[in-house]
Amino acid sequence: MNAKKTERAVNYCGVELRYTLEYKKVKNINLRVRPNGEVCVSAPPAVSPDRVDAFVAAKGGFIIGTRKKLEARTPPAPKKFEDGEVFPILGRQLRLAVIRSDDERVQSDEGHLYLYVRDPGDIARKQRLYGDWTARRCEKVFGETADAVYERLRSCGVPHARITVKDMKSRWGSCMPAAGQITLNKQLLKADPECIEYVIVHEYAHFLHPDHSPAFHAFVGSVLPDWKERNARLRGVEIVKGQ
Ligand SMILES: [Zn+2]
Repeated sequence: MNAKKTERAVNYCGVELRYTLEYKKVKNINLRVRPNGEVCVSAPPAVSPDRVDAFVAAKGGFIIGTRKKLEARTPPAPKKFEDGEVFPILGRQLRLAVIRSDDERVQSDEGHLYLYVRDPGDIARKQRLYGDWTARRCEKVFGETADAVYERLRSCGVPHARITVKDMKSRWGSCMPAAGQITLNKQLLKADPECIEYVIVHEYAHFLHPDHSPAFHAFVGSVLPDWKERNARLRGVEIVKGQ
C-alpha cells in the first residue's frame, strides 16, 4: 500500500474541507486538526479513500468548530520587556532583568537574560536590542549546528546547504534541495539544542528523500535514534510569529 500522503477534499454543508490522508498501520481512522487548522487523517490500508471521505464529512461539524476555537484563541500578549518576564531560549526559561546602562547590550546566563539599555522605559529600543541579539544567536547556533550535522552526513552524499533564517508562521524548517538551501524558523531558537539538531537533520534528509517516506524516517532514525522524542518536545514549543 502506498505510504505517501495524499491531499483530498470533501464537501460539508457546502463548505469544502481539505485534508491530508495518510495510510498507516493503524487500527482505526484517526482525524486530527493541527494548531494551524490543517486536517490530517490516518487510516488502515484496508479502508478505501471513499470511506475515509465519508468519515471526514461526518466529522465536518467537529472540524469547523475546532477551527473556530483555534481562530478565537488569543495569541500570547506581546512582550513588554519588563523585569521578570520570561523568555524561552534554547530550551531554558530565562527571566529578564532590565539594567540602565550607556553600554547597550544583551547577555544571558543559565537563568537570566540581561538587557542593558539607556532608557529602561523605551520599549521599542528594548525590542530592537533583543531582536538584534536573537538574530545573532540564531546565526551562530543554527550555523554551528548545521556545520556539525553536515560533517556527519557528508559521506551520505548531501551537499553543503546554505542556512537562512526567517520568521515563519507554522513550520520549523523547510528546504530547497535544488538550490542547496535550508530555511529555519528564527523561533527555533526557543527550542533546546537537540531539537534544533533534529530539525536540521530532518531538512538535510530531504536532500536524499524528498517526501516523508519510510526510507526518509529510516534515514533520520539512523542519524538520530531518538528523533521521535525530540520531535515530541518540539511540539511543546509554541510558534508565535514575530516573537
Ligand atoms: Zn519534512
